[in-house]
Amino acid sequence: MLRRIGLIGGMSWESTATYYRFINQMVRARHGGLASADLLLHSLNFREVVDMQVAGRWDLAAEHLAESGRALVRGGAECVLICTNTMHLVADEVEKAAGVPLIHIIDATGNAIAAAGFKRPLLLATRYTMEHGFYRDHMMARCGIEPITPEKADRDMVHDIIFSELCCGVVKPDSRQRYLDIIEKGRAAGADCVILGCTEIGLLIEQRDVSLPVFDSTWLHAEAAVNFAEQAVGKPIAAE
Ligand code: GLU
Repeated sequence: MLRRIGLIGGMSWESTATYYRFINQMVRARHGGLASADLLLHSLNFREVVDMQVAGRWDLAAEHLAESGRALVRGGAECVLICTNTMHLVADEVEKAAGVPLIHIIDATGNAIAAAGFKRPLLLATRYTMEHGFYRDHMMARCGIEPITPEKADRDMVHDIIFSELCCGVVKPDSRQRYLDIIEKGRAAGADCVILGCTEIGLLIEQRDVSLPVFDSTWLHAEAAVNFAEQAVGKPIAAE
């Protein structure tokens, strides 16, 4: 038996599709060819969420995602994941409303970086994640790691590519090169690894493109969900 995972997704659906694939690939790899995750997905309308972000209405966004978390729990979810880094800005409110463990993307990412012995990650993410402070503060407090961010013009470029391209399913080689150039600047500034701190960035760059070790928040978050799901009471699923 695997515990039921609840995904608050759709932010954007491009990366939620990746979560669905990663989680099921991990379950298959660990439990055999026909095993798959027991999960519920509530895919929100990203347009509505982005409008709240742009308006700075994090209070409304918190309630919107909290309602989603409650709905997933009514459907039997035993944990919830917010399938975006940015919306972890309201993670505390969502966890409180859901009343089940929230698998936190910053913990999953920071713990992996700490375990690998890195100390100074370059954070690539939306402007909200890079500039608001919630991400850095949480990673410092929980994992003892302080991410660095690109300079302002580069932060803007990273943000714009996320919203105008990646979240719309557009992957451009030019944009990949821009990201790689920013990573090289980060390396020169002392970064020892890179956080793909937006769940769509893995659509654009992979470890093989990059000279520094890459920590993909989508993969690490999905892995943390599967680890939780395996803490089930009862017998593990036998491999075929
Ligand atoms: N998926 C992105 C993230 O991980 C951005 C979308 C959003 O603003 O929620 O932050």
